[in-house]
Amino acid sequence: MSLKTDSILIHGGIDGDVTTGAVNIPVYQTSTYKQDGLGVTRGWEYSRTGNPTRDALERLIAELEHGKYGFAFASGLAAINTVLSLFKSGDKLVVSDNIYGGTFRILENVFSNFGIAYEIVNTSDLQKVEDAIDEDVKAVFIESPANPLLTVTDIEAVAKIAHEHGKLLIVDNTFLTPYLQRPITLGADIVIHSGTKYLGGHSDTVSGLVVVKKKALADRLYYLQNAIGGVLAPWDSFLVIRGIKTLGVRMDRHVKNAERIARWLSESGHADRVYFPGLPEDPGYEIQKKQADGPGAIISFVLKDTYDYRKFFKNLKVITLAESLGGVESLVCHPATMTHAAIPENIRREVGIVDELIRLSVGIEDVDDLIADLEGAIEASGKGVV
Ligand SMILES: *Cc1c(COP(=O)(O)O)cnc(C)c1O
Repeated sequence: MSLKTDSILIHGGIDGDVTTGAVNIPVYQTSTYKQDGLGVTRGWEYSRTGNPTRDALERLIAELEHGKYGFAFASGLAAINTVLSLFKSGDKLVVSDNIYGGTFRILENVFSNFGIAYEIVNTSDLQKVEDAIDEDVKAVFIESPANPLLTVTDIEAVAKIAHEHGKLLIVDNTFLTPYLQRPITLGADIVIHSGTKYLGGHSDTVSGLVVVKKKALADRLYYLQNAIGGVLAPWDSFLVIRGIKTLGVRMDRHVKNAERIARWLSESGHADRVYFPGLPEDPGYEIQKKQADGPGAIISFVLKDTYDYRKFFKNLKVITLAESLGGVESLVCHPATMTHAAIPENIRREVGIVDELIRLSVGIEDVDDLIADLEGAIEASGKGVV
């Protein structure tokens, strides 16, 4: 019987423990496994190579993303590191112009040392994607909506361009999760997640996930996962599985709250600009509606210069100033000095990551309390206010 997403969240992957009947997959806190004779294993050898708790998570995320093979890593960046290790010296990647700062950093300061190049392109402009692809390019790497300006890229159209040239499409789906967007069904070859965010959902675990559909790609990634060794621990695998069970109900509330706050922000007159693909006036609105089941719950906005953004951060009482996103609690961050500080100032300004830009990860608290907190903090940060 093929299940719908809300049921896969609860029963997907491996449903319960076959040996004991435990409804939840136990934490198999072991590094190694008894062999019954030379070369005779019960399917498990060593926990870097494979662990039943991690395996349950890997199967679950593969099913949720409509792929076939899942891989769990110690962080989103460990996942990205492993995916980038598919490439070799002389290869090049085309990358979205606003991406997670850490993705930029690992390309710029780590993989460039191994001769892997990249070109930053506004991937919402399909002609620019097409123009950037040459012989050396082996893959296009996008986020949609992208971090932190929520720029929407037409995943299906970029997949088509990439495939026409025989290149891979890699999509970082962290912001929407498979509950709202399934890039493999739109043609993506590799889907990446920071499981630290909505999948774990409670700001208590760092993790990363990768999903693919093709066997050859899966074999290569499995080899690299074991060879590089950045795997997710059993306990953390358990926590991510537990988080995923409530993904649907959490995302519904995250999105509902975010839609209210984005509308309020854009009508309040406090912001010069509100970036949120759920607003009909947002340039990404139509494509977002076509390719996803919701806009997500990250909002970025540029505070009017009659307010002091430093004071704004200080005056918040409910919303917490912190790195990260996607937890049940609302978090706010200052991309220019926090998440995107690794991006050189000139590129930052060029793409719109200005000093007045504020990124909000809308949590599942009462939305009226969140709006009151934002309004109070903005009003108290007026430049005339002492
Ligand atoms: C946080 C994040 C990452 C990195 O994940 P970690 O778990 O922090 O290593 C990658 N991509 C996006 C979009 C993120 O938000």
